[in-house]
Amino acid sequence: MAAEVTPFKAGQFGKFALDINGEVVGRPYSFVNAPGEMPLEFYFIEVPGGLLTQRMAMLKVGDPVWV
Ligand SMILES: Cc1cc2nc3c(=O)[nH]c(=O)nc-3n(C[C@H](O)[C@H](O)[C@H](O)COP(=O)(O)OP(=O)(O)OC[C@H]3O[C@@H](n4cnc5c(N)ncnc54)[C@H](O)[C@@H]3O)c2cc1C
Repeated sequence: MAAEVTPFKAGQFGKFALDINGEVVGRPYSFVNAPGEMPLEFYFIEVPGGLLTQRMAMLKVGDPVWV
């Protein structure tokens, strides 16, 4: 199901999260897309040893995420 995300203004950021070992782990990410554009786009750097980004890098199309 698509996330119902409140429209954002330029400069605002969102929070992206995954369920990791039964815990919701979230971090802030800037929106790549312009306000009003869908789908929402995020660009992230894979941090060595990073709890969330290491798991984000393993996501496949259709995997569920929290926004
Ligand atoms: C307002 C805001 C907007 C952000 N937008 C983006 C974005 O658009 N894209 C994006 O990639 N990140 C963005 N970040 C950073 C993001 O929220 C996470 O901190 C980052 O992705 C690391 O998460 P992690 O769980 O993988 O690492 P963690 O497990 O939280 O950190 C592991 C270790 O890596 C260090 N670390 C964290 N980030 C980096 C880095 N970039 N380079 C080197 N070491 C690092 C931490 O200090 C810690 O020691 C933003 C942060 C803020 C506050």
